[in-house]
Amino acid sequence: MTTTQVGSPSGAPAEPPRRGLGHVAPRHDVEGFVGSFMRELNYGQGVSLTRSSLNDRYLALARTVRHHLQSRWMAALAQQADDQAKTVCYLSAEFLLGRQLDNAILASDLDDVVEEGLGQLGLSLSTLRAQEIEPGLGNGGLGRLAACFIDSLATMSVPCVGYGIRYEYGIFRQSFEDGWQREDTDPWLALGNPWEFPHPEHAVTVNFGGTTEHYEDEDGATRTRWLPDWDVQGVPYNYMVPGFRNGRVNTLRLWSAKATRGFNLNSFNAGDYVDAVRAETFAEKISMVLYPEDSTPQGKELRLQQQYFFVACSVHNFINQVLPSDFDLHKLPDRVIFQLNDTHPVIAVPELMRVLVDEKGFDWDEAWTITQQCFAYTCHTLLPEALEEWSIELMGRLLPRHLEIIRRIDEEFRAEVAAAFPGDEAMPRRMAIVGDHTVRMAHLATVAGSKVNGVAELHSQLLRDKVLPDFSALWPEKFTNVTNGVTPRRFLRLANRNLSSLITEAIGPGWVTDLDRLRELEPFADDPAFRERFREVKRLNKATLARTLQSRNGIEMPTTGIVDIMVKRLHEYKRQTLKVLHIVSLYEGVVSGRLAVEDVTPRVFAFGAKAAPGYAMAKQIIGLINAVGATVNADPRLDGRLTVVFPPNYDVTLAEKLIPAADLSEQISLAGKEASGTGNMKLALNGALTIGTDDGANIEIRRLVGDENFFLFGLLEPQVEELLAKGYDPASYAAADPRLTSALDLIASGAFTGGDASVFSGLVDNLLHHDRFLALADFSAYMEAQDRVDAAYADPEGWTRSAVLNVARCGFFSSDRAMREYIDKIWHAQPVVTSL
Ligand SMILES: *Cc1c(COP(=O)(O)O)cnc(C)c1O
Repeated sequence: MTTTQVGSPSGAPAEPPRRGLGHVAPRHDVEGFVGSFMRELNYGQGVSLTRSSLNDRYLALARTVRHHLQSRWMAALAQQADDQAKTVCYLSAEFLLGRQLDNAILASDLDDVVEEGLGQLGLSLSTLRAQEIEPGLGNGGLGRLAACFIDSLATMSVPCVGYGIRYEYGIFRQSFEDGWQREDTDPWLALGNPWEFPHPEHAVTVNFGGTTEHYEDEDGATRTRWLPDWDVQGVPYNYMVPGFRNGRVNTLRLWSAKATRGFNLNSFNAGDYVDAVRAETFAEKISMVLYPEDSTPQGKELRLQQQYFFVACSVHNFINQVLPSDFDLHKLPDRVIFQLNDTHPVIAVPELMRVLVDEKGFDWDEAWTITQQCFAYTCHTLLPEALEEWSIELMGRLLPRHLEIIRRIDEEFRAEVAAAFPGDEAMPRRMAIVGDHTVRMAHLATVAGSKVNGVAELHSQLLRDKVLPDFSALWPEKFTNVTNGVTPRRFLRLANRNLSSLITEAIGPGWVTDLDRLRELEPFADDPAFRERFREVKRLNKATLARTLQSRNGIEMPTTGIVDIMVKRLHEYKRQTLKVLHIVSLYEGVVSGRLAVEDVTPRVFAFGAKAAPGYAMAKQIIGLINAVGATVNADPRLDGRLTVVFPPNYDVTLAEKLIPAADLSEQISLAGKEASGTGNMKLALNGALTIGTDDGANIEIRRLVGDENFFLFGLLEPQVEELLAKGYDPASYAAADPRLTSALDLIASGAFTGGDASVFSGLVDNLLHHDRFLALADFSAYMEAQDRVDAAYADPEGWTRSAVLNVARCGFFSSDRAMREYIDKIWHAQPVVTSL
């Protein structure tokens, strides 16, 4: 086995074999492409070019491009089986992939061929590209991180299988009605999905419910078996995860629930036919819909079913279908690491124990030693309400054997704690996995995991000190940090082709797989000609965004002034309200005469945010942003200087349009609440300057780009703790800053709701009396920082210099670097070169 580094040969793609491993490779030229596209259209879709719909053409194009990856995929899989390399099994309830077509074209180096081939047929790539519906199989940062990680592992030639759920309906589609969020389902599969390969012949049976029973085996040992009372089939759908021009293609395997034949349907008579069919739809509900809660688990039964469903399928698939049939499971830790993306897949721990002990006949201690080496856990939060717990009653009813296993793990663990801290009786109780009424999944993950990591330096520190302090006292070496990253392929190379070309012209193309090389841009920050071209890129990207918003939503967006962007899920801790208060304060200032309109720096405030459908306050905040926007945009006294745009349905596709156009990135969470953020990284890499609190990865961004290229404001995490301890009195902040009083009064007066003062009274009342996230405490500092932004923007050369330095110094935030750290600190996996 040979190893390679990221950044290894990225020039010409390796030629796949034309014959050999049981497949033929497609031709990598225009003529070959056109022939292949026409065959897909005529025989795949069954239409001629003239009669074909846009969707026919898109599907034909997708399948044509897909051929180029498929032959490599087969080679990679064959190679991996031969090499017996350690595989990273990334278990995640969410993968927020974004559109596939452009990434596949980029990875297989087909840009020119596709463009020219389609041109010969009189078709346009950009029109066909727009036909793709993104798979919205995630809520936000956590799901997008999983997508970035599997992209990087493929690019680094590290064997990886991403395991997740093929939700029939992804994250809801958001629209606005009178400014209020409306949710519609996301039937993303309706027009066909050319990127997936179903394998019903490899379906896995997953059991639920019932009881357990003890029995004696032939050797007289007491063993346990689970007598479930219902089951469901998991059908795998495979997706290709191509590396960037390295001949490597990994697999993402998403599971879809199907009713089991023969469970109820076999025994029906005429009378219970309808019941039997209902049972089928019941089973299939498991993978029907993604839960739209971002960071507030609801403890719903169906959610636990989803978690166990995908994890049981994945563990079974890896052990019985990926590993060779004669594999000695004592060596399992040499061949696999199951990475737990938050607590959602933690039920995999008792599942692996059950498989080893009940099915494979291992004794308990042996199985536990193996299991502990096979898992590692990534924690994604600091909010106590986001730590998943399941009621013991529900767990016992749905997964009785797993509850028994968890109880035994818990008993042995508490004995270990008692021995390590003799005399401290509170400690084992605090650390218990099984509490009075619930099973604490984060504790189970920490006990079982070989490593536990946070996702930014501050977050990992707070995880040790505040969230899991007892565990870090017991096992300090278990805790580590890996700061998140984003894939430069999607978020720079594809999303910002203008900037990519400029960078490549300056420093060559190597940065795409070795993002630290962006450092070589630093000297260009002092080159006026380069800065002018950098500004031209921003202008072009703003114009593209304006066109997109116009055609997508009929939104008018000015292309001059600061493009000030806040895009992320709507949550009180992220503090979109602070942003709104800034806008309202500027508006109020002009209307009241406190500010001269000519002194207001022109800005476009762009928001993108979905609120969890059950999160009333978040939906109020969306209503407020839209109400303020409607009023501000229409008021002639502002002379068009302030514009609020809030395109609905923020998703990866929209992110790819908004981010390249940004001048200013709003990262204004309350210090100590945002685990890392990745939107902050995407924006900085695209040349936006950050206005941000000392939170999450903002801290690392600021350290890298330098204080003078970052607008820091707000309370520090220890100050937040101190303030909360002594008692936060929001009204005192309002009283101390007349701009804040006026802004709150204006909202409360009904000025944005046609005079109806009741609409946002709850929201204002919350800010003034309850807000756990201290928005008012940071208001004055935020306003002062925004003044610094305006002053800096008034000097275009200085601003551009800072923007270029942000790009040059943020190479660290590549997900390739994050993957390298997981490999070195946690997984100890090795890249495999696919020999083609
Ligand atoms: C990157 C990304 C996120 C995460 O944004 P944060 O600002 O880190 O919360 C959420 N949604 C989408 C669509 C993204 O691309």
